[in-house]
Amino acid sequence: MHRFFIPPAWIHGETVLLSDDVAHQLRHVLRLRPGARIVVLDDRGWEYEVELLTVEHKAARGMICERRPAGGEPPVQLTLAQALLKKDNFEWVLQKGTEIGVTRFVPLITARTVAAGDEGISPAKRERWARIVREAAEQSRRGALPVIEAPLTFSAALNSLSADLTLIAWEEERAISLRQALAELRGADVSQVTVFIGPEGGFTVQEVAQAQARGAQTVSLGTRILRAETAATAAALLVLYELGALDPH
Ligand code: SAH
Repeated sequence: MHRFFIPPAWIHGETVLLSDDVAHQLRHVLRLRPGARIVVLDDRGWEYEVELLTVEHKAARGMICERRPAGGEPPVQLTLAQALLKKDNFEWVLQKGTEIGVTRFVPLITARTVAAGDEGISPAKRERWARIVREAAEQSRRGALPVIEAPLTFSAALNSLSADLTLIAWEEERAISLRQALAELRGADVSQVTVFIGPEGGFTVQEVAQAQARGAQTVSLGTRILRAETAATAAALLVLYELGALDPH
């Protein structure tokens, strides 16, 4: 069944009124007819199975058949603090990170970030990011939309992001792997993890030292050097895997 995150204001008692791009999608892309069922999500923890009553050009109306907890969210809140990347790579991280289960993305401006200076983050780009994340969340059956924060400088991110555990992936780390860093926490109640991933050129030594001074743990993702977008998706998956957050429940 197709899933759509909708503004809660579209829900009126037992009826749902769908407009804008959702209505367009239903009628012109999916070509759904009255009687078809969809799932809508309010991004407040609930999903609703809806039977479509009318599907017009600019609006559709449906009747709620069932209301249930949305599910689909990992038991660990995972923040991915990702340095802005060139071209489509940042968007790729948003899409894949959402599928894997990242709960919050923090775009970072670091010493070696090249992307931000090029064009800045226009409102159009932020809208595009939000759409990529929403579509990925619908496709991967997330129960909540990951949050995309406004871009922060590396220092601001270190100061403002609190978590039970903060990891910074650093290719020069020779001693501690991601697995080891997480193993040390076995038994502890970890519900919030933040992972920092650098830009194409990596973090500077000063940045790494600054992160360590703020209590972040440097971790290796192996002896091979990964591209930033590969490192981001691999790290997100590995954190959730190691914490048992991918186990079916
Ligand atoms: N330009 C650097 C590599 C940067 S890779 C060089 O060639 O040495 C981009 C980012 O991915 C890094 O900042 C780091 O956060 C992450 N990364 C890539 N490979 C990694 C590895 N083997 N271990 C830990 N982090 C890694």
